[in-house]
Amino acid sequence: VVREACEDMSIKASKYNMRIQYNVEERLEVRGDRHKLKEVFLNVLDNAIKYGYVNSSVHIEASREDAMVAVRITDQGEGISPEALKLVFEPFYREGEKHRSEKGSAGLGLSIVKQTVEAHGGRVEIDSELQKGTRVTILLPEDKHGAT
Ligand code: ATP
Ligand code: MG
Repeated sequence: VVREACEDMSIKASKYNMRIQYNVEERLEVRGDRHKLKEVFLNVLDNAIKYGYVNSSVHIEASREDAMVAVRITDQGEGISPEALKLVFEPFYREGEKHRSEKGSAGLGLSIVKQTVEAHGGRVEIDSELQKGTRVTILLPEDKHGAT
């Protein structure tokens, strides 16, 4: 699912001469709605591209951590201020006018991400540093037996 999301976003990334670097361990499985989970990764990648610097890279990696699957999406971009970080999961919240603010951005992406991830028993963490970049971590309970 992560790979599919990266493939779907690669055209948008190349428009800004950005690269998506993908490093995902094999055989990580979670139980859930494939379509909804893909939407989660598309939303986070969309932000990483939209708020990332031209010519930069977006890194996405997935690994096993305790009983969770951790997917980290790291961008090199303008980052999020500490005040805004508390608000980014609120529906319709957008921080100022960012450098590549697009018409049609509603401020809904991360609120949907949080809702979907929590509905799957997981959580979302964001670390960010201004003028450097942002790292979003999606944690989902690993399914040791089933398939997604
Ligand atoms: P939509 O996702 O509905 O198109 P959006 O991207 O503005 O609109 P969210 O994805 O919910 O909305 O993000 C909320 C706000 O958080 C953004 O407007 C932006 O200010 C900030 N933000 C989110 N991701 C990043 C990021 N990777 N780097 C910098 N700022 C970010
Ligand atoms: Mg968004």
